[in-house]
Amino acid sequence: MSIATEEQTVVDRVSKQLYIGGEWRDASGGGTLEVIDPATEEPLCEVADATPEDAAAALDAAVDKRAEWAASAPNDRAGILWKAFELMMERADKLALLMTLEMGKPLAESKGEIVYAADFFRWFSGEALRIEGGYKQFATGTSRVLVMKQPVGPSLLITPWNFPMAMGTRKVGPAVAAGCTVVMKPAQQTPLSMLALGQILEEAGLPGGVFNIVTTSSSGSTTGPLIQDPRLRKLSFTGSTEVGRRLIEASAQNVLKVSMELGGNAPFLIFEDADLDAAVEGALLAKMRNMGEACTSANRFHVAEPVREEFARRLGEKMGALKFGRGTEEDVKVGPLIDQPSREKVAELVQDALDKGATRVVGGEIPDGRGYFYAPTVLDEVPEDARVLHEEIFGPVAPVGVFSSEEDAIARANDTEYGLVAYVFTRDIKRAIRVCEGLDTGMVGLNQGMVSNAGAPFGGVKQSGIGREGGHQGLEEFLETKYVAVSL
Ligand code: NAP
Repeated sequence: MSIATEEQTVVDRVSKQLYIGGEWRDASGGGTLEVIDPATEEPLCEVADATPEDAAAALDAAVDKRAEWAASAPNDRAGILWKAFELMMERADKLALLMTLEMGKPLAESKGEIVYAADFFRWFSGEALRIEGGYKQFATGTSRVLVMKQPVGPSLLITPWNFPMAMGTRKVGPAVAAGCTVVMKPAQQTPLSMLALGQILEEAGLPGGVFNIVTTSSSGSTTGPLIQDPRLRKLSFTGSTEVGRRLIEASAQNVLKVSMELGGNAPFLIFEDADLDAAVEGALLAKMRNMGEACTSANRFHVAEPVREEFARRLGEKMGALKFGRGTEEDVKVGPLIDQPSREKVAELVQDALDKGATRVVGGEIPDGRGYFYAPTVLDEVPEDARVLHEEIFGPVAPVGVFSSEEDAIARANDTEYGLVAYVFTRDIKRAIRVCEGLDTGMVGLNQGMVSNAGAPFGGVKQSGIGREGGHQGLEEFLETKYVAVSL
């Protein structure tokens, strides 16, 4: 099969309809929204553009199925998740191609995301069997404390475009394992991966109504009424801090249980005693994974002065050598950014830093031709007031600066409203622990440039979020605790 034919086939195989109550159907208004390939700026296909009435129907379906699904056997829920894991792994190549087409990341990275995404189903398949309560005596010895864990109920899941599959399975896995029914709203730029996931879960035997998908071009007006509906019990959102804040506010009306995975501004600290080879490799991974379009992306590099120049030079050599292009092409390591406004913002941040006195080590250009590409860029001696150090870049740009002491490194790292992840490179174990303790973040990569793992509690503090996804903690987000006082 030629590459173009294979691309067409994977796009054709995905349902373009809404998935509500176990049925695939068109949007009630008949509307569609276009999906664009960011590497060519050409349309790939159109999918259903849901109206508020469609979203209401999806919530109705989730509510109708709520009690039955909550009472289902953990073995059945575990079995469905395990089957879905297997199907994802079997189809990993095709799912990866689909993701590259709608989102742009290189095929190898898309494949990595499919494996990571599937892993949440494997993990939560096990967690479905480990929903534990408790039993103890009152301190007085008279009555008993019985603690039950029960599914929180119908949940609205909203996901971003940067990890179109993994941000979905990281929510769907625990929701299904806990016995919750859901309405899923994926990002409008990348609806295809989620629709493909719907087909997989259907094939894996997930009963209709447990997982409902609403794709829409008007996220606010479509999901707003659901958040105000008293039958909804939980909102789990991954996206920008700005939108997250608004959704927390809206959730206050019905006091919804919320999980928020929001933006980041990750510091990457390199001490003088660090293994510099490992630090450069870790930096490349933390910066260039997903073209820098990750909440965990290293946003700023704070380096001990004696090794700063060498680090910036070596990172510049590595980043400058990365081939960029359409993610389907061989050896491409850097795909396009998601759209023109995102690329403009990246270019603006780089220009601001250069205007304020930063040195360009490599990159800093928009290449000619179609597609929203931006050249991998390293800036050295970036001044403190440059916007690039304070705003989420979401692009392949690495600003490098210095710190003068351990205290200064921690202070600089914490000088942000965000608190998702930080990276620390040092060979001194005592310093490593001191710095990890001092960082105001939910996660730390210690001598490694990646933290994501299905079995680990992923999440942030400060304005990076509320709650955790993955690990046993991820399941707890979809459970409520009920305490029964038992008289004997
Ligand atoms: P975004 O603009 O906040 O959008 C995220 C999702 O929210 C999309 O599905 C979007 O739909 C929807 N949305 C936007 N406005 C809404 C509203 N008023 N009501 C309901 N839904 C609404 O974020 P993004 O640009 O897609 O994603 C990038 C951001 O996500 C970055 O800040 C990144 O750090 C963060 N992120 C965080 C994590 C984490 O785990 N902490 C992981 C990945 C990404 P539309 O597509 O229709 O706009």
